[in-house]
Amino acid sequence: MLPQERPPVAPADLNRINPAIWPRTSARTDGALTVGGVDVRDLAREHGTPLFVLDEEDVRSRMRDYATAFAGSEVHYAGKAFLCKEIVRWLHDEGLGLDVASGGELAVALSVGFPPERITMHGNNKSVAELTRAVEAGVGHIVVDSYEEIARLGHLAERLGRRPKVMIRVTTGVEAHTHEFIATAHDDQKFGLSLNTGAAAEAVRRILALPQLELVGLHSHIGSQIVDTAGFEVAARRLTTLLVQVKDEHGVVLPELDLGGGYGVAYVEGDEAPDIKELADGLREIVTKVCKDAGLPVPRLTVEPGRTIVGPGGITLYEVGTVKDVEGLRTYVSIDGGMSDNVRTALYGAEYTAVLASRESAAGPMLSRLVGKHCESGDIIVRDLHLPADLAPGDLIAVAATGAYCRSLASNYNYLPKPAVVAVSGGRSRVIVRGETEDDLLRGQL
Ligand SMILES: *Cc1c(COP(=O)(O)O)cnc(C)c1O
Repeated sequence: MLPQERPPVAPADLNRINPAIWPRTSARTDGALTVGGVDVRDLAREHGTPLFVLDEEDVRSRMRDYATAFAGSEVHYAGKAFLCKEIVRWLHDEGLGLDVASGGELAVALSVGFPPERITMHGNNKSVAELTRAVEAGVGHIVVDSYEEIARLGHLAERLGRRPKVMIRVTTGVEAHTHEFIATAHDDQKFGLSLNTGAAAEAVRRILALPQLELVGLHSHIGSQIVDTAGFEVAARRLTTLLVQVKDEHGVVLPELDLGGGYGVAYVEGDEAPDIKELADGLREIVTKVCKDAGLPVPRLTVEPGRTIVGPGGITLYEVGTVKDVEGLRTYVSIDGGMSDNVRTALYGAEYTAVLASRESAAGPMLSRLVGKHCESGDIIVRDLHLPADLAPGDLIAVAATGAYCRSLASNYNYLPKPAVVAVSGGRSRVIVRGETEDDLLRGQL
């Protein structure tokens, strides 16, 4: 069923902060939401709204959970979920690697001295400038995505006198989303080289023919919001058939396997998020099993979680501007941001949880739609939710689990400045990404 068709059910307690959805340190104190020991009313006063708030302890503890659960394997945070200098420092502290997908993301990582050998470069159309920078910086891995890229990288490596480690992005025909996965998903997409059509095997041939490139393994990324390991098992099995083929054809045993990311987080009541320890044990077991079955040594496993690291620890704080009752239908609650700071609902019908954050309310539920201030009727943050019926302009609304793919997908639509990102911890807040000003918006215009 599409989200908009689901009959909304009012939660029993509109004031509840469900620990499965909200950041690990969040609570209600004196009626108001606190995160990292900081009252959201103080955050709004000090930093303004809209505001991205990141629970530092939540994010760091998830990084640690991954590092611990996947000890002996590699965990590369997928930077596209949300990347800034401070996140890179946290990754470094907690011992994770980093995936980048553009020269800009690479620049953020290098600007704070992140070890290049722990960076993997992705992208289906990396420019020559991006590849040059990655090779010169000495990134640990480059995941190649096309024949053209193999040729370009070969020329570059020769010219620069370097021998980059490369992996091949393989389209396995497995596509996973939440509980369902399709094991025959067709190859009709821009990413990767198909296992089915033989393109991946041809990529192996082309790379092995270039001694200046070091082919170390295969990569696959099967989807997003995945809650169990079934799809990974099929993908790993299929990748293993290629590993066997490479061994038979070339006498080469590839030592690494990257199974990508896509692990789910809880956005709304009832959403499941996989347990990280179970996930790690499950993936390791799968890789060990399929390789043993195929008579191959067990390769070094890499995983690439993005949203599960930064998603749940982030919230967005907005101020209510208007409360418009559309007689007999619902109430439209307009906040001071919108699709420019969270496009996921408009883009693909994402679902979110939101609460009245600046106070508790004993009022009954009011069927609402939380909307932004942009000139689009599709400018919706939460399509169906219940808010207290006494909601009024000036109240603060918090939206949960906005740490991933919100700030990183933000735009300046309608010339709205992108909100600041603050980290909260131990009762203090500090800006980690400055909010844009009107000057920022006008800069560069002639
Ligand atoms: C986006 C992406 C990820 C991370 O996906 P999440 O859903 O955020 O975990 C990992 N690997 C690759 C190659 C990706 O493109």
